[in-house]
Amino acid sequence: MLAKIIDGKSLAAVVRAAQKSAIDSLAARGIRPGLAAILVGNDPASRVYVRNKARACEETGVRSETHEFPDDVSETVLLERVLQLNADPRVHGVLVQLPLPPHLDSSRVLAAISPTKDVDGFHAANLGALLQGRPGFVPGTPAGVMRMLEHAGVPIAGRHAVIVGRSTIVGKPLALLLLQKDATVTICHSKTAGLATLTRSADILVAAVGRAKLITGNMVKPGACVIDVGINRMADGKLAGDVDFESAKETAGWITLVPGGVGPMTVAMLIVNTVHAAELSIG
Ligand code: NDP
Repeated sequence: MLAKIIDGKSLAAVVRAAQKSAIDSLAARGIRPGLAAILVGNDPASRVYVRNKARACEETGVRSETHEFPDDVSETVLLERVLQLNADPRVHGVLVQLPLPPHLDSSRVLAAISPTKDVDGFHAANLGALLQGRPGFVPGTPAGVMRMLEHAGVPIAGRHAVIVGRSTIVGKPLALLLLQKDATVTICHSKTAGLATLTRSADILVAAVGRAKLITGNMVKPGACVIDVGINRMADGKLAGDVDFESAKETAGWITLVPGGVGPMTVAMLIVNTVHAAELSIG
């Protein structure tokens, strides 16, 4: 095996532990950072994600609360709860676990979250700040990917980064963050022609698609850094990424695992944002 593993699980633990001094200074001022998660329906994956976030919060010293609603909750009821949480001084971060059931307009619900409590960074005000290079909350997954690259010492400036997947929560914000670090960025999607030719030219290759093993070793440039954001539940119940780890690790210079890669980093960066939101709440 050639590739070095970028271990998201242990890096996430380091990132969370590094929040301790900020949490202690807040405690000295009588403040405990608090995160409120809104969970609608019974989607098993969403339940697992919310539970993992709550557990990581408690382990780090962040108070967490989960607000559960049935599948058929009305948008009015959901929006009312978001407004209550916006006004609650014990809550510094509010997140709505996606996806929401189809009768709910997720962009309207996300827009209702106060940008100062939008620790997922999905509000237009925070995404706009990212586009303009102003301070704001950066979504956890792309922020976590950047932390992994930095930690592994992967060169970014002047390198070609290819991101497969153009979602608003992963692909697009990650492209902006890589651009800020002077990478040359290509974003691919389902209509991209010649995907393998593009991925083979990538010094940094990020897969954020949701298709198990889409990226195989012969699509990876020798020595490239391969970051696997994908989480796919296989027929045997196990999780797999978008990258065929076994073949890609033979060619890549660095590679991440699924599970134990980007997932824990996403949660760690959410906690960083929540602690920061608590700091901002007292100026
Ligand atoms: P979306 O479904 O929103 O986006 C998927 C993207 O992949 C789209 O841009 C789509 O293109 C593109 N795509 C689909 N098929 C292909 C293909 N054959 N070739 C190239 N591109 C393709 O997904 P998300 O961004 O929300 O999530 C992506 C994956 O990352 C999922 O597995 C998800 O579970 C995981 N995830 C993991 C997180 C973590 O913490 N590790 C956090 C968030 C997500 P088009 O736009 O044309 O449809």
